Amino acid sequence: MSRASNFVTKPVRLAIYNRDDCQCIICGERDINKLSLDHIVAEANGGTHDTRNLVTMCISCNSSKRDMPLKAFCLKKGYNWPAIRAKVNRAKRASIDTQVAKQAINQAGGWQNYKQNGTKVLYQF
Ligand SMILES: [Zn+2]
Repeated sequence: MSRASNFVTKPVRLAIYNRDDCQCIICGERDINKLSLDHIVAEANGGTHDTRNLVTMCISCNSSKRDMPLKAFCLKKGYNWPAIRAKVNRAKRASIDTQVAKQAINQAGGWQNYKQNGTKVLYQF
């Protein structure tokens, strides 16, 4: 479920975006201002805020998915489920680098500045 909430810190959020190649796992949206985090197992179904249960998803995909299981959502919408499942499995295995994300945010002068300059800064990773 998408919320503009602070269930993870900004460095953790950015580190997850970076882990996921800074793009929505469904549609590939890359504008950081349109990105959000999706719970693979929805909070409503007992999913936690653990980074392995969070993937990068744009606000648009996230709000149309709501609490639907990802597979069911992809099949319903005709998205490439095997490709998306591979991205999710990769995300579950990969580690995140919160320290690098924290430094990048600090160098930009804070999260809002980071997001404003986002696309330029993001590709330095
Ligand atoms: Zn999307």
